[in-house]
Amino acid sequence: MTSTSSNEKTNLLGLDHDGLVEWCAGLGEKRFRATQLFRWIHQRGVADFDAMSDLAKSLRAKLHATAQIQPLAVLSEQVSRDGTIKWLFDVGQGDAVESVFIPERDRATLCVSSQAGCAIGCRFCSTGHQGFSRNLKTWEIIAQLWYAEHELRRRFQSDERIITNVVMMGMGEPLQNYTQLVPALRTMLDDHGYGLSRRKVTVSTSGIVPMMDRLSQACPVALAVSLHAPQDALRDDLVPLNRKYPLQELMQACQRYLAYAPRDFITFEYCMLAGVNDQPEHALALVELLLGEGKGPNWCKLNLIPFNPFPQSGLQCSSPEAVQAFAQILLDAGLVTTVRKTRGDDIDAACGQLAGEVKDRTRAIVRMQRKRSPALATADAYVQEVKG
Ligand code: SF4
Repeated sequence: MTSTSSNEKTNLLGLDHDGLVEWCAGLGEKRFRATQLFRWIHQRGVADFDAMSDLAKSLRAKLHATAQIQPLAVLSEQVSRDGTIKWLFDVGQGDAVESVFIPERDRATLCVSSQAGCAIGCRFCSTGHQGFSRNLKTWEIIAQLWYAEHELRRRFQSDERIITNVVMMGMGEPLQNYTQLVPALRTMLDDHGYGLSRRKVTVSTSGIVPMMDRLSQACPVALAVSLHAPQDALRDDLVPLNRKYPLQELMQACQRYLAYAPRDFITFEYCMLAGVNDQPEHALALVELLLGEGKGPNWCKLNLIPFNPFPQSGLQCSSPEAVQAFAQILLDAGLVTTVRKTRGDDIDAACGQLAGEVKDRTRAIVRMQRKRSPALATADAYVQEVKG
């Protein structure tokens, strides 16, 4: 159970349904009262207890005394010419995180952040380059969805649900914030909350193997894995966590996850970097990695992502021809492969571009110049802590 506030009142955005039931029991209130309250908060976006008209006055008085619904402050909003919206949220102490709303013809996706910064330090990722400040609390994760959903309903004058999909692909490595993440996921899935199906909530990970196993048991939503390289030596360089959990271990974890996944495939993200990982030999190695040991082609999908260059990376995006040739090799091998459309590039909202504002408490630049990244130590320590 998670809650927080500046004035010691419980922020109810941080409680999933079971957490709210338990919290209400502490006030002497029955389960159905907690369900009513949960629906007011998440389904109707109401933050004022006095507006919750079917709650008894006595309960409202208790709520005023002990609880609040405290959203995140919006620092800025940018709207792209393609309809993508990026919000920058203040999470205090000089840190800010970003969320991105991506409308499409048949769905509307919110990309949500899980950490202020990121300790993994992937070379091609703007978030990774700015270092790590802290994990977000459950309420800070869910507050991004709460704000976006209800603000958009107000804006579009809609009583219907606007956001149909959530991807945990914003700033941060979600599985390094597992204990705060899971109640947020449960709130997204809860029929009294946002009612999203497990197929439409995706956690994206760089491959923290023990936490993938934990997630498969606790809350098996759709899984995306940031792959970006078909061989360990190259992936060690691009995704430093690979030194801790190399490709073979990662592939085995993916196979284990499949048994619990809401979809019968895992998505692999592959950022296309000119001359680094976009050559035909890389595509052939990828085919070998994904289809080796007799695996059929249907257990995974490939998402090729055009790289969005930023100066500190020293990397360039692949040419459209290179991307096309790469994709063709995968397609010829029978792998379902798509090239992701870049969205919101005029507002720096595309994949890997989320920068927010983070006070780096890990000195990312120094770290990235070292051979063994402290991100690995961070991951080790975290896994040990959660495993207990
Ligand atoms: S790609 Fe994801 S895991 Fe890697 S540095 Fe960026 S936010 Fe972190």
